[in-house]
Amino acid sequence: MTNPSRATFPPGGRAWPDLQAEMASRTAGDADWRSGRTAIFFFMADEEAYNVGKRAFMEHFSENALGAARAYPGIAAMERDVIDYGLDLMHAPDGGRGVFTTGGTESILLGVKSARDRHRASGKCQPGRPLNIVMPVTAHPAFDKAAILMDVDVRRAPLRLDRRCDVDALRALLDENTFLIVGSAPCFPHGVIDPIGDIGAVALERDIWLHVDACVGGWVAPFFERIGRGTPVFDFRHEAVRSISADLHKFGFAPKPSSTVFFRDGEDLDRSTFRLGHWPSGMYTTATMSGSRPAGAVAGAWAVLNHLGASGYERAARNLAEMTDSYVAGIRAIPDLELWAKPDVTILNFGSKAFDIYAVAERMRTRGWIPGLTSDPRGMHTMLSMQHAPVRETWLADMAACIDEVRASQAKSDLAATY
Ligand SMILES: *Cc1c(COP(=O)(O)O)cnc(C)c1O
Repeated sequence: MTNPSRATFPPGGRAWPDLQAEMASRTAGDADWRSGRTAIFFFMADEEAYNVGKRAFMEHFSENALGAARAYPGIAAMERDVIDYGLDLMHAPDGGRGVFTTGGTESILLGVKSARDRHRASGKCQPGRPLNIVMPVTAHPAFDKAAILMDVDVRRAPLRLDRRCDVDALRALLDENTFLIVGSAPCFPHGVIDPIGDIGAVALERDIWLHVDACVGGWVAPFFERIGRGTPVFDFRHEAVRSISADLHKFGFAPKPSSTVFFRDGEDLDRSTFRLGHWPSGMYTTATMSGSRPAGAVAGAWAVLNHLGASGYERAARNLAEMTDSYVAGIRAIPDLELWAKPDVTILNFGSKAFDIYAVAERMRTRGWIPGLTSDPRGMHTMLSMQHAPVRETWLADMAACIDEVRASQAKSDLAATY
């Protein structure tokens, strides 16, 4: 039988120019990452930092970071540097350790694994009932993914009016089998940092692991704090925080795939480290979920961190903050368009009580934008990065025009929010 919709194995023999041309034509209709028309997926500080990351990645395109310890001590040293920089930035105590991973999801999986194994070792589990994670409704689906893999339950707590975790409601969900509490810095849907201090007080009182998911904010929110934005503290300065996930490939402006996870206590990293001694090829150890990993991502992150450094990230934070403020002002200037939360970093979530924001999003799509949506509250969503600065005026003008159309026609939309 032949399935007409399945591609057949290629005969081969095609040269690069031919392949390059076909790839260009296949992707001609894809979103242009430089254009600032997609609400998420791509992160930019400035052109030079982008080029540094790309060059460094390509310099070490071929090495495998899995073999860093045995074959590539230079890559291993860069990887240690990146982790040390992160521990420094997050105010980790001297015994803190971390892992360089391929993304936020992997960083979260490692944090959840360590927390679960610590709880198991504590002997506090009530037998016969599944363990559980307690977290606000806004915490990332990677925790649900981890929960499925580790056969544990997830309980989600509601939010306060400012869309940060309602800590009393979260506390009410805890029991003896809760091995992990999560807060976000910031959460993806509304862009606000959960009250980590208040959540931490509950975590300490009950001796439960607190993981802060700073996949979005980890490498940039500290610089928002430094430039005087009053950005809430989310890191190891809160005694209760035992682990933090922080993506380099978001606001670290490093090439994909790159993320980090940090542990207050080095022993906790051992709990998610995999070791197999009795294998025909000998001892196999990885601190990551993945085996082979691109060394280019390590080199790219190391180079971007050293290129930008504290001064560069502060400059990036100033640029991002200024742009976010100007988007906020533009949104506020449109009648009946309102922000659903006050952004702590650069994520905007906005909608209206007067018209259907999804109908606006539909019209924005026909004008060549790829808007993000939130379902509760019904809203549009944008994770601003520097490629969005030059298109602000066009975006606001298109928004105003689409809103006028929707108001005039009273249009409603049955779009569904999709990440
Ligand atoms: C992006 C994101 C993640 C997951 O990161 P990936 O790199 O996509 O796996 C986790 N948490 C938050 C808050 C995020 O925004």
